[in-house]
Amino acid sequence: MDLSIVIPLYNEEESLPELTEWIRKVIRSQGCTYEIILIDDGSNDQSWKVIESIRQNHPEVKGIKFQRNYGKSAALNEGFKAAEGDVVITMDADLQDSPDEIPELRRMIMEDGFDLVSGWKKKRYDNALTKNLPSKLFNAAARKMSKINLHDFNCGLKAYRNNVVKSIEVYGEMHRYVPVLAKWSGHRKIGEKVVEHRARKYGVTKFGWDRFINGFLDLMLIFFMGKFGKRPMHFFGLWGTLSFGIGFVLFLYLTVSKFFFDVTGMTQRPLFYFAILAMIMGTQLFLAGFIGELISRNAADRNSYLIEKKAGL
Ligand code: UDP
Ligand code: MG
Repeated sequence: MDLSIVIPLYNEEESLPELTEWIRKVIRSQGCTYEIILIDDGSNDQSWKVIESIRQNHPEVKGIKFQRNYGKSAALNEGFKAAEGDVVITMDADLQDSPDEIPELRRMIMEDGFDLVSGWKKKRYDNALTKNLPSKLFNAAARKMSKINLHDFNCGLKAYRNNVVKSIEVYGEMHRYVPVLAKWSGHRKIGEKVVEHRARKYGVTKFGWDRFINGFLDLMLIFFMGKFGKRPMHFFGLWGTLSFGIGFVLFLYLTVSKFFFDVTGMTQRPLFYFAILAMIMGTQLFLAGFIGELISRNAADRNSYLIEKKAGL
């Protein structure tokens, strides 16, 4: 199969017929084999009924229905597992992403040799204050931390080579940082295409203000996991030892000045509390690193590596 279109959706009943019809029209002009995988993320409207009724006339439309709402990342992950096309394209279900972009995205993967091409909503039709501005800040931070040069990490419209989606696991709310996951899995040729963005036609946005808190925490997580995920001791151990060392030296100094130079009132000196605090913090950090190390040593995937090719084996 040439192409899989993966679409996570949560309560998007009005958009689905129009969306699938539009995709069909675009791909028909391309003459390639394709599937549309709709993942119903536990909708409580008629979305699943709509999917079933579309399927009656169009068997290339496939559906997965979650029992409850797990989130966009989970939906994408299931879609990725099911996708059979050589190129996999994800898009939102709300008609904010235009299917007209599909052919060019596919061409960039097939001909320009990109592993991943991310859409860039250069001109956005969302609320400027609650979405566009925070998103700019986020993207700048994500660019810095991941060293991937994308303007719009969280764009729903993306294209992947099939083996990319098979080698990443999208969980939690990591759908915002799929390019980072792709890079971690060794797929470094990541490109960008300016895409047309449209105002939401039906329904409402499914992400509230908490997107910023979660997005920020996930960004920290991404950064930390990427650098120290497999070796927590190298982070906590270093800072723990340093902190303990500083506290210990200060404590020695205080003790020496009390017993050898008769400086009185050791416990009244601010330095005393600082020394104790530094030693306690150091021990805590060291322990955190040590426990992290024990956990990662027991992780089921501690020795699973993505192997691209083998010869003679
Ligand atoms: N979505 C989902 N599960 C969720 C939330 C959202 O599958 O828990 C889907 C949603 O139906 C849409 C896409 O993810 O197809 C993007 O969501 P939305 O349009 O609400 O985000 P926004 O465009 O406001 O960033
Ligand atoms: Mg949207």
